Amino acid sequence: MVEARNPASTHANKKTILTLFGTRPEIIKLAPVIWALEKHSDIWRSVVVSSSQHTDLLRPFIRDLKINVDHDLAVMTPGQTPNAVLSRVVEAIEPIFLKEKPDLIIVQGDTTTATAGALAGFYARIPVAHVEAGLRTGDRYSPFPEEMNRRLISQLADLHFAATEENIKILLSEGIKKESIVLTGNPVVDALHHILKNSRCSETLTNFLESTKGKRLLVLTTHRRENFGQVMSSHLKALRKFTERHQDIELVFPVHPNPSVRAVVNSEFANIERIHCLDPLEYVDFLHLLSNAWLIASDSGGVQEEAPSLGKPLLVLRDTTERPEVLACGVGRLVGHSGERLGEMLEAAIDDQSWFDTVVKTKNPFGKGDAGERISSAISSYFATHKNS
Ligand code: UDP
Repeated sequence: MVEARNPASTHANKKTILTLFGTRPEIIKLAPVIWALEKHSDIWRSVVVSSSQHTDLLRPFIRDLKINVDHDLAVMTPGQTPNAVLSRVVEAIEPIFLKEKPDLIIVQGDTTTATAGALAGFYARIPVAHVEAGLRTGDRYSPFPEEMNRRLISQLADLHFAATEENIKILLSEGIKKESIVLTGNPVVDALHHILKNSRCSETLTNFLESTKGKRLLVLTTHRRENFGQVMSSHLKALRKFTERHQDIELVFPVHPNPSVRAVVNSEFANIERIHCLDPLEYVDFLHLLSNAWLIASDSGGVQEEAPSLGKPLLVLRDTTERPEVLACGVGRLVGHSGERLGEMLEAAIDDQSWFDTVVKTKNPFGKGDAGERISSAISSYFATHKNS
């Protein structure tokens, strides 16, 4: 365990803000919040905790986003279940609360780490702030277990940072108090702009992009639990047929390490011309890949926010989305679970230049890239109105 940089006792005038993450999407979206807290180190003492719910996927992101982890809970075990992660995080974070005495805990999104952090915070009577609050599909099993995680966190949190007006409406409809909700945009937009401005992509990716110049790059990511098995197989089959049919398509798939994904990939995508299966990419490379995409097909949540940020059309490989804004603004089209429908939508896309032309000009529904700062100032306002907290 790494020692805290700033022992609580030497910072009596500052509020201690503990930020908890454990997976790739959480660090991407919390990095801009941590940067903003550290920028305002005159008022905040920032304590960063990683649960390490994921390890190999997470590590390069901590490095590239330049985050200093004060405490690593190291909870990951082989074949871990949500129950195991939840109980391990709740137990491991308690001594950190006692040592650091946080005035507020920040969690993000819908992971088991975020749920555990919010629950542990509540039990310890420490106020909890939730970044990316108010997303719902309305189906408690899709995405699983994330939809339920989000609902539980909303019940546990004291402060709700909503990315869009739609998210605010949902929170209000569930009885969350208006004064506790702040519209901030989604910090993924901050992270994306920061990375694209400040980092260069690797030589390997540069060479790959050079070798496929002039072709249509179709970028794929898929690893959602509810797509494992038959659904993923049928999606991959449709993508394979489409790639085989169109000589100018190059399909690029950074494959998630989950064995359930690898198994389907091995059976559907082995040695197919113009299908490139890669290891998961570091964020800089992945964003550069997306920037060069002709079309994206993905079941990821974060990618649904990155596509409009980059002006790229997206086929959403899900039957529901908690980000209806991506469909409403015209950037995304919902595919569902059928491979046949995916095949039809891919063919429709290749004949529909107007979709691509519109998407480039679409305003990003997820904000301008100032969410980190907005969150820092919303926390100040929270403490100003809760003086005894
Ligand atoms: N991502 C990445 N490298 C990859 C695939 C994805 O950096 O090879 C990033 C992507 O830009 C997005 C995040 O990982 O911001 C999404 O993570 P994931 O799909 O695991 O989670 P979700 O967003 O669905 O919660």
